[in-house]
Amino acid sequence: MNKLGTQDYITLEDQYNAHNYKPLDVVLARGEGVWVWDVEGRKYMDCLAAYSAVNQGHCHPRIVQAMLEQAPKLALTSRAFRNDQLPLLAEELCELTGYEMMLPMNSGAEAVETALKAARKWAYTVKGVADERAEIIACSGNFHGRTISIVTFSPEEQYRDGFGPFTPGFKLIPYGDAGALERAITPNTAAFIVEPIQGEGGVVVPPKGYLKRVRELCSEHNVLMMADEIQSGLGRTGKLLACEHEGVRPDVVMLGKALSGGMYPVSAVVSSKEVLGVFDPGDHGSTFGGNPLACAVARESLRVIQDENLCERAAELGDYLMARLREIKSQYVKLVRGKGLFVGIVLKREAGGARRFCEALQERGVLAKETHEHIIRLAPPLVITREQIDWAVEQVAEVLTMA
Ligand SMILES: *Cc1c(COP(=O)(O)O)cnc(C)c1O
Repeated sequence: MNKLGTQDYITLEDQYNAHNYKPLDVVLARGEGVWVWDVEGRKYMDCLAAYSAVNQGHCHPRIVQAMLEQAPKLALTSRAFRNDQLPLLAEELCELTGYEMMLPMNSGAEAVETALKAARKWAYTVKGVADERAEIIACSGNFHGRTISIVTFSPEEQYRDGFGPFTPGFKLIPYGDAGALERAITPNTAAFIVEPIQGEGGVVVPPKGYLKRVRELCSEHNVLMMADEIQSGLGRTGKLLACEHEGVRPDVVMLGKALSGGMYPVSAVVSSKEVLGVFDPGDHGSTFGGNPLACAVARESLRVIQDENLCERAAELGDYLMARLREIKSQYVKLVRGKGLFVGIVLKREAGGARRFCEALQERGVLAKETHEHIIRLAPPLVITREQIDWAVEQVAEVLTMA
């Protein structure tokens, strides 16, 4: 068979794969650090990093090695039996994040579902909410995943359209507005689920003091503060958890994405014994959740974040990236916002959408993805260097000053 080219792969995918995404037309075949290569051999800088799953860089040699060492030993036991990796990941993740317990799953959405189930059962068995009455509050602009219960409280019409009926028991309030949370809490409120910085919402940083006030309100009303750190956590914003920027400790934290450095789907919920202790055997589970291959990969991914000081790097290089981007004189840019290496370039209405700028960046060897039509998100692997940032900024400056 002749070697397939970009168009052949696109044709095959469009014919045989459901069209639930609209990817840029680049077919990637290889990755290393901040770089990826397409099937034609063209090289690109990855400024999306798989929605922050690849914080450690593509195919990090230590994470690859951990996978290669574990794969031939033991990949899956199911939780019907114990394995020799899960206990070690559990201990290491709890020590690193400062929580008492964790519960492993695979995708981010499953971690969110796990947190929602924990919150409801906690409300009934610990808080004393009457049966079937528990409420969970979420924010406008949120993204927490794609299951039916999660899209129930998605503010995106398209995520819900055609998928009802939905799950009762959720309320939406404006993001960044602690007063709205105070007004929404009732005696039946089990939890407030919030992203410390909204990623898919467009890299939205809430007002200073918001998370602190949320923490106070949740404590005051015996409501679980649940932080979805699936995208913002594990170094991306310059801290291990983005909530640390305000010195806030949520009751429940959801992690995913970079928990495996992108090598394998691994997610987890970390919390207290009081909350995760509500699960009895049989209440919840996953065939692949906590499998030894996932755990070995996650353990090494966490060590890489620490050993390579990726949080500090993200803080320092993120400040640098934002300062450089703000120097660009472009008629199209409204503002640059973000924290750490989690950056959004918000375009003016007259810019004609972010997609055309992302396509122009692709031609210049930078892969970025628009969010919400008018925002270019830049979230490269945290192993990026200052020189690589300089190069990326040059490309961004060129496309933002084109006609
Ligand atoms: C990506 C993401 C999820 C969902 O993770 P999946 O692995 O795609 O299911 C949930 N919450 C946030 C904040 C995310 O960015």
